[in-house]
Amino acid sequence: EVALVVPDKQVDSVCPYCGVGCQLTYHVKDNKILHVEGRDGPANHKRLCVKGRYGFDYAHHAQRLTVPLIRRADAPKRGDFSMDPDRVMDVFREATWDEALDLVASKFIALRDTHGKKSLAGFGSAKGSNEEAYLFQKLVRTGFGSNNVDHCTRLCHASSVAALLEGIGSGAVSNPVMDVMRAEVVIVIGANPAQNHPVAATWIKNAINNGTRLIMMDPRRSDLSRLAHRFLQFKPDTDVALLNAMMHVIVHEGLVDQDFIAARTIGFEELKANVEGYSPELMAPICGIDADEIRYVARLYATSKGSMILWGMGISQHVHGTDNARCLIALALMTGQIGKPGAGLHPLRGQNNVQGASDAGLIPMMYPDYQRVDSPAAIARFEQLWGMPLDHQPGLTVVEVMNAIKAGSVRGMYIMGENPAMSDPDANHAREALAALDHLVVQDIFLTETAYLADVILPASAFPEKTGSFTNTDRLVQMGRQALAPPGQAKQDLWIIQQIASRMGLDWHYDGVGDVFEEMRLSMPSIGGMRWDRLEREQAITYPCENEGDPGQSVVFTDHFPTESKRARFVPADIIPANERPDSDYPLVLITGRQLEHWHTGSMTRRAAVLDAIEPDPVALIHPLDLVALGAAPGDVITLESRRGQVTLYARADDSSPRGAVFVPFCYYEAAINRLTNPALDPFGKIPEFKYCAIRMSIGGA
Ligand code: SF4
Repeated sequence: EVALVVPDKQVDSVCPYCGVGCQLTYHVKDNKILHVEGRDGPANHKRLCVKGRYGFDYAHHAQRLTVPLIRRADAPKRGDFSMDPDRVMDVFREATWDEALDLVASKFIALRDTHGKKSLAGFGSAKGSNEEAYLFQKLVRTGFGSNNVDHCTRLCHASSVAALLEGIGSGAVSNPVMDVMRAEVVIVIGANPAQNHPVAATWIKNAINNGTRLIMMDPRRSDLSRLAHRFLQFKPDTDVALLNAMMHVIVHEGLVDQDFIAARTIGFEELKANVEGYSPELMAPICGIDADEIRYVARLYATSKGSMILWGMGISQHVHGTDNARCLIALALMTGQIGKPGAGLHPLRGQNNVQGASDAGLIPMMYPDYQRVDSPAAIARFEQLWGMPLDHQPGLTVVEVMNAIKAGSVRGMYIMGENPAMSDPDANHAREALAALDHLVVQDIFLTETAYLADVILPASAFPEKTGSFTNTDRLVQMGRQALAPPGQAKQDLWIIQQIASRMGLDWHYDGVGDVFEEMRLSMPSIGGMRWDRLEREQAITYPCENEGDPGQSVVFTDHFPTESKRARFVPADIIPANERPDSDYPLVLITGRQLEHWHTGSMTRRAAVLDAIEPDPVALIHPLDLVALGAAPGDVITLESRRGQVTLYARADDSSPRGAVFVPFCYYEAAINRLTNPALDPFGKIPEFKYCAIRMSIGGA
């Protein structure tokens, strides 16, 4: 007989993983989550994927950090990256909160006063709440004294945002995912929603069932490709060639929307002249797609009543990521496929709050609401709000911070909930940089690869242990509510940030999380109409929501773009090759990404029992014919190597990638694939080229 365990409370919250922002309910008994249920939220209508439904028990994992830790004076050298969880106490000793926080603040003050304000930097988190992101960037800007603050948006959609801000004056989506149900044609390019935005993929499938035509465009075949009306498996790194060829067709066949171009845009003539040299016949051999097929999809996209484009990291993580996004924007503008229901641009956001963290100013060139740090009006506004003079120069981005540490100009860092030792490109270089810091403070829930290099570790709260607002990929601001008490002496992140601020002499007084949100409202016109009590009551409100009666706008740009001229701008793009092409020494291409079951650097999902049981080992997905050529069989141990490092992992036969391309998820610490990736940056978004570098492979371990 099975006894039914009855929860003693149910707490409504949102999923801690991807940007779809599914609403869920935690069923809790004795401070433990029993199970999770999907709620009827605007983005999910009770649906959850495997991560949202089963990926909650990481919060109860025995490896949770429960007490502040300080590095022992006689600890092994920080350059030794071989982390042994059983020997943590050889490296760190327990401390009281007062001792740890005093040490954190006094060292930051000493470095700032000795080496200058730009000697400090902070990485916040796209998994934290809007309020945490806001206070974190405020601490860096007012306590550290510079704009050296960034987070993992730099590693995902920074190039998309650069192109969107330049082209249409807003870095967010024009329409929610759910609008695919109102579209006649949907292009998904450089994205694998079935793995990375699974509930969004279900809406796309529903749309297909209702007659929407899906055009998948990607070098890798994915689950949604099976259902696509057309699947264009173009060669890696040839996005601009393919997209410019589509625009060439649209111009030559008179499929442009002349009225829209005349009334709503500038720069079309330059774009038209640029795509003239990109005929389908010329581009077909470059991108590997037949010229007639390019013509067909261009016509379909341009002539439908409503066409949407959704894209992901396959577009953004290139040295030409901004150019890729410029082409998508130009496609929408020239055909008038934006500014109406079922037509628009949707960069699918990765983490559950990467949109909100960016909105809240967790980026080095913008204050909250994308107000530039070098704009006199914005400077005046924030100096008045925060009551002190601010640095007027944009700060360093994620990869630039690592380079500045190696150059000796950045000496102290505060990292909250990010794991750059795993997530940064050329991770060996990033780890060496982190190990070279005079003072590294890491605030996290587990001893991550980054925390292992820290001087001070501050035990923080997991997602279900705190209350805050989170903004999903649709610009929907939603309430996440506390369901559990943090374990041991672990504290909520908002408390920790305020304690450091106070010890650095900042006179902050916030009466809870709602008070922080109310200050955000004062400086962010986009959420000006979202009072905290309204958000608590309604649970989800879309921005822009500029005044209190405003219901929020899910479809934007209906009559103007938020630029100075109110018009959108065409920006032409030409082909720029990947920074590191295959050659005789390194003949293969490495593509990195995620798996359905695991999340980013794996610190949470690899500690979620069900998820780790499904995908327990590091794998490389290799075309079966490439495996045969290597003389290897599926399941064999192989070594992948680039000019920057090597990893050993298991081979998996997978013909979804073209021959010569190897796909590896970046969640496995045993085979941290970012040891191999190329830190070359897109010059506009400063995003690294995770989607393309040259490697070789061999049988056996290194
Ligand atoms: Fe969570 Fe995203 Fe899955 Fe929804 S689709 S349950 S937000 S991981």
